Amino acid sequence: MRAGFIGLGTMGRFMAANLCRDGHQVRVYNRSEGPRAELRDLGATVCETPTGVIEDCDVVFTMLPDGAVVSSILAGENGLFAASAGTGRVFVDSSTIAPGTARELGAEAARYGVSFMDAPVSGGPAGAETGNLVFMVGGSDADLERVRPVFDTMGRKVFHTGPVGNGQSAKVCNNMLAATIMAATSETLSLGERLGLDPDLLSEILANSSGGSTLLQTWNPFPAIVPNAPSSRDYEGGFQMKLMVKDIRLALDEARLSEAPVPMGSAAHALYVFKANTDAAAAIKDYSKVIEIFRAKKADAAA
Ligand code: NAD
Repeated sequence: MRAGFIGLGTMGRFMAANLCRDGHQVRVYNRSEGPRAELRDLGATVCETPTGVIEDCDVVFTMLPDGAVVSSILAGENGLFAASAGTGRVFVDSSTIAPGTARELGAEAARYGVSFMDAPVSGGPAGAETGNLVFMVGGSDADLERVRPVFDTMGRKVFHTGPVGNGQSAKVCNNMLAATIMAATSETLSLGERLGLDPDLLSEILANSSGGSTLLQTWNPFPAIVPNAPSSRDYEGGFQMKLMVKDIRLALDEARLSEAPVPMGSAAHALYVFKANTDAAAAIKDYSKVIEIFRAKKADAAA
């Protein structure tokens, strides 16, 4: 397919690269130099503006930090929907944004005679790099079938969740749960450490017991237990804590709107906010760095 891609950050660079490698005709835009050269080498056309990307494209992906940035590029008189008016082009946003923002974008796209789908992802940078993302798609059956080949290139599973916005609803549920499990796993491993247990051994016991989880086994927050986990490379190259704070906030907003009780998600949110606010460096490192709250020594013991 002829695909456009806007936002070549931690995730987008790998997703766009896989589209190139799979033989799609790809046009890309990134605000900074970033991985432009790498994408050019893979055969992508590198554009100087977002508008340059849409030319001749059947489908245009956005992979940007938040809803405000996505809307600033797609919506409004100077946005890409307006620039594509009447073409029937499909826009797919894979960023994590509020379900309500996705629905507003869907309605605005329809006014301009183009299609919009929300298709947030799970799988992290490793899933993006290896084409193993999980897509949670909100939109029409017809639009999904039109762009399915590009989803199949970048992901291993595509879940159609319902109308526009539902993909984001599924995503914020998943991320609130992941944040909660990560915080609880961090708390538990730190307790074990204080009790004199070897964290490697405790991790193995948990993995073979009822306290185990995918995150424990693939994304263990304790350094040097899982070699490929961000914690084993000083929390680099994972999912930035500030993005996780944004995602739990989105989940809590949805909980408030639907009057759902979310005490666990609320507690997790407070922990990540505390860590990100009191340790500026942690905000841009992987969210599993939240374990440092639990591993901190008592002030008199550290002296
Ligand atoms: P990132 O910060 O690494 O990349 C974001 C990209 O957006 C960068 O290329 C940046 O240059 C660009 N950008 C920022 N502001 C812009 C603007 N105003 N105009 C144009 N471009 C702009 O983020 P990421 O980790 O790739 O995540 C992107 C989205 O995917 C986020 O919504 C995130 O929540 C979601 N997500 C991330 C992961 C992950 O593990 N990193 C996993 C699933 C979903």
